[in-house]
Amino acid sequence: MTNTESAPGAAKKASTRKAAPESAAPAIIEVRNPGTGELVGTVPDEAPEAVAAKVRELRLYQPEWEAIGPDGRKEWLLKLQDWLVDNTEHLADVLQSETSKPRVDALIDPAFSVDLTGYYARRAAKFLADEHPSPHSPLARVKKLTTIYQPHPVVGIITPWNFPLAMPIIDVIPALAAGAAVILKPSEVTPLSALELARGWAEIGAPPVFAVVTGAGATGAAVVENADYIQFTGSTATGRRIAAACAERMIPSSLELGGKDPAIVLADADLDRAAHGIAFGGMFNAGQVCISVERVYVEAPVYDTFVAKLTAAVKELRLGIDGRESKHDVGALANENQVAIVQRHVEEAVAAGAKVLTGGKRTGVGTFFEPTVLVDVDHTMSCINEETFGPTLPVVKVADEAEAVRLANDSTYGLSASVWTGDKDRGERVARQLNAGAVNINDVFANLFNFALPMGGWGQSGVGARWGGANGVRKYCRQKAITKPILPTQQKELIWFPYQMPKLLVAIGAMRAAGARGLRRIDIPALLKLKRDDR
Ligand code: ADP
Repeated sequence: MTNTESAPGAAKKASTRKAAPESAAPAIIEVRNPGTGELVGTVPDEAPEAVAAKVRELRLYQPEWEAIGPDGRKEWLLKLQDWLVDNTEHLADVLQSETSKPRVDALIDPAFSVDLTGYYARRAAKFLADEHPSPHSPLARVKKLTTIYQPHPVVGIITPWNFPLAMPIIDVIPALAAGAAVILKPSEVTPLSALELARGWAEIGAPPVFAVVTGAGATGAAVVENADYIQFTGSTATGRRIAAACAERMIPSSLELGGKDPAIVLADADLDRAAHGIAFGGMFNAGQVCISVERVYVEAPVYDTFVAKLTAAVKELRLGIDGRESKHDVGALANENQVAIVQRHVEEAVAAGAKVLTGGKRTGVGTFFEPTVLVDVDHTMSCINEETFGPTLPVVKVADEAEAVRLANDSTYGLSASVWTGDKDRGERVARQLNAGAVNINDVFANLFNFALPMGGWGQSGVGARWGGANGVRKYCRQKAITKPILPTQQKELIWFPYQMPKLLVAIGAMRAAGARGLRRIDIPALLKLKRDDR
């Protein structure tokens, strides 16, 4: 586990790295509050060898962690859950210091983490229980069949900066519940909350099967080089590099990548709910959510009314830096890179004829950017066809439902979507036509608060999924099939050497009879011929 120190001072950029002196000491990463520029901590930029050493150590302790079983692990995970509850205010402080999130947003991370930890701690035993599937054919009934789930020894988890505590937790907990040891590499922009999690794990006295390494891309690449399974959340570009590295090593990975989530507002929708829901879906965490609403398609008859309501809802948002008291709705962007992307998307849209109805520029303080509504936009513009990951809501007028679906599907991404309508069945019909891993009807993010559902992206938004009930822990396991004889065994099975056609004919015929569709599928002439040839 890594130590952090706080230091006073201020600077313009979040998270800068300082080169290591010629000695062996690792370089230091400075962590800054993006809203104020204040230096809030430093962490080491850990070298690949340090990562390899931590993974070797995890491998020593993992077998015992696996051996105590899901019920033994449950006790530790629930102790961690208690720790999360007891330390919520402090965790929110740390989270705010490295992100500049509003207090409410900062409190959501720990609450979400507590909920998820309880779910997988309590359910893992059921999800990981041996299974005895029914044999597929009467012929297979001579064996007892068992599928067991055995964890990948070390799972590597690489996370982004938008939810510095929840992002790690949502994958660390299911992996630990599965019996794996975990090495976590948080974003270099926001590593402090992940280090708090590691501190909590140590403080409750849990087995040393969870470690955090800090650093940037090279440290992450070392995790990929040393772990047995990679769970990655981040940009599509980095995800592609990680997938290639995993393929080289022939290890599995699960990738949750970028998104450009559409919201479809149909003419029969409750427009007030749609406006408030989409304002929240687009501006929560300053739009820095993989499942943020990033494009809005509105049926023509309600377009003007909806746009007016959405603009009013967005104008009401309070921007600023909270302390422990909740006074603001939207905080700063994570760093200058993010501001530059948002600014470019707005400027390019305006240059191509789009109109800004509210927002559209930096506030002049830290990395704050005004919540923005854009209209007169189209699919040639970067604000519609690239991931923004910021507080912009471009709105497009569509003729009807069919055009809305066509445009919503006109994207390389497919993370999630929302449909707003007064007719829930119609909403479901539209949902089924969208190319996305999740669709919420008359809501945003609802799938994220349902761990029984899978969360995964289609297309460039990812490969694999997290959660989804049992699959959420089973994905961190290798499956093993075991067959055990039920009947007393003979000296030889029918199909063992030496081959004897009459005996094989019985076996082959029985297989075909069991699997084929009706007696007419059994090739009796061929069987008779085989029999004649044998003679
Ligand atoms: P962003 O920079 O927007 O956070 P990234 O996808 O680049 O998005 O980063 C997500 C996470 O991936 C971070 O923890 C980052 O340090 C890590 N990372 C970046 N490059 C690599 C890489 N080549 N291999 C492994 N991890 C990486």
